[in-house]
Formats: sequence, C-alpha cells, structure tokens
Amino acid sequence: MSAEDFTRTFIAAPADPPADPVASVNQLGAVWSPDFDAYASGQLDISRVRCALCQHAPCDCPPFGTPGYFALIDLRHGRNPAGA
Ligand SMILES: [Zn+2]
Repeated sequence: MSAEDFTRTFIAAPADPPADPVASVNQLGAVWSPDFDAYASGQLDISRVRCALCQHAPCDCPPFGTPGYFALIDLRHGRNPAGA
C-alpha cells in the first residue's frame, strides 16, 4: 500500500484536496483555536493561545479518551450524540 493510499483510506483525506492547506484541513472538519491567527502572525505567545477544545490557555481539557473529553469534541463540532 502506498503512503497516498494509506492516507486516503485511514485518515479520510479528501480525494481531491484544495490547494490551500487551510482549506484542506477545514474540509476535514477541523476546529481552530480562536487565537491561531494571532499566534501564527507572531502577535501572541504560544503560552497564551487558547485550546481549540476547552478554549482555555493553558489547556485544561479532561483527560484524552474520557467521556468529558469526547463531550467537549462533540460540543465544538455542534454535535449532541446524547440527544440531551
Ligand atoms: Zn483544552
């Protein structure tokens, strides 16, 4: 299996990705930190960049893999799998 086949099969990369890398990542459903642009332009130190999930700096997300962590992911993606 080629690296390209692996990427398309297991990482679900778009078959025809946009040339713009940001557009490619957005097409995969990425959620960005609200501070990413300020960080990328050198205006904000990484220590002050808010987490894309919990939106705190520094990050204080629940431990990875816990129900609270997945609930936060669902919240940021506008999903409500529990139907509450
Ligand atoms: Zn966080």
